[in-house]
Amino acid sequence: MESESPQSQCDNASCGNQVPSSIWSSGVLCSGCSGARYCAAPCQEVSWASHKAICTVPKSVKLGEIRLHCKIEEEDEDEDEDGYDSDEDMDSTCIKNISVDIEYKPFGSNTAVKIGYARLVLVDIEKTRSVGFFFRLDDESDELSNFAVLFDDEGPLRPNSGCWQPEDFDEQDYLVVLTELVVDIPWREQGIGRSVFQKLFKLEQLHGSRFIFAWPTAWASSIQKESTAAYSAKCDRVVKFFQKSAFRRVVNSRFFCLANDIRHASHSIPLDQDAPYHDSELPPTITLEEAQRYMDERYMAQRMPF
Ligand SMILES: [Zn+2]
Ligand SMILES: [Zn+2]
Repeated sequence: MESESPQSQCDNASCGNQVPSSIWSSGVLCSGCSGARYCAAPCQEVSWASHKAICTVPKSVKLGEIRLHCKIEEEDEDEDEDGYDSDEDMDSTCIKNISVDIEYKPFGSNTAVKIGYARLVLVDIEKTRSVGFFFRLDDESDELSNFAVLFDDEGPLRPNSGCWQPEDFDEQDYLVVLTELVVDIPWREQGIGRSVFQKLFKLEQLHGSRFIFAWPTAWASSIQKESTAAYSAKCDRVVKFFQKSAFRRVVNSRFFCLANDIRHASHSIPLDQDAPYHDSELPPTITLEEAQRYMDERYMAQRMPF
C-alpha cells in the first residue's frame, strides 16, 4: 500500500529521527490526515499543537459514523504464579478479555479509519464461584484485585456503595470493566468517547450488561519524562473525562461506574458532587485486615472441604 522510501524524517521538528518506513503502520502515522509521520507517540503528542492547523481530521465527526469492531481475545495458558495447578482450580473461561477497535467512516465513503481502541474485561460472576469471586479476580491482575474488594465473595456489590446499590446487579450475570480507552490525538474533544460508551452497551459480547466499570488513569508510559505533578494532572483530566461521560465513583475507590439506564441514581449526581477518592481500596465499612481475614476464611473453607 505504501510506496515510501525506506527512511524518512520524523515530523516532530525538534526530533529529527530517521525512521524506517516499516514502522509507519504501527500507529505513528497521523490517523487524522494520513500525512504526518512520527517516530513514536510522544513525538505526535508534542507536535499536535502545530500540526492541528494543517491536519485534515474532520472538524465534525458528525459527517460520518463511529463504529466498533469487537473481538474476544484468546486466553493464554495460565501462567501458574501461585504454585498450584491452575488448570484444575481455575476456570479460565470466567474472565474474558475483549478488544475493540474504534473506527470512523465518513458518510459516502467505503473506507473506515481506525482512530482508537478499547479493552474490556468481562467477568462471568457465576463461573467465578468455584474458586471464589475475589480469588479468581485476584489471580488475574492487581487492577482486578482492587476491583474485587468492592464486592463480596459471592459477587454482589457491597452495601453502602454510594449511589450504587447491590440490587443494581441482581440481574447481572456479567461484570464489565473497561481497562483501556484510547482515542488518537487528532480525534479528541469531539465527543467520541461518549459515543463509544453508548455503543459498547450494544455489543452482543457484553451480554446485555447494564453497567461498565472503569479505573480512569493516565498511561504510565510517559512517566519517566514527566514530573509527578504533570502525571497527576493528566490523571485528573482522565477522571474528569469519565465523569463528564456520566461515570460516577464507586464508594470512595478509584473505580467509577456508568449505568446505561439514564434513570439510574448515578445520573442525578452533579459532576462536582461526585464522591471523593479516599486512600483506601476498600469500602469505609470494612478494614483491609477484615477483608483479608474474611477472604482467607472463605478460601480455606473452600480449599479444605473435610
Ligand atoms: Zn520523533
Ligand atoms: Zn494529521
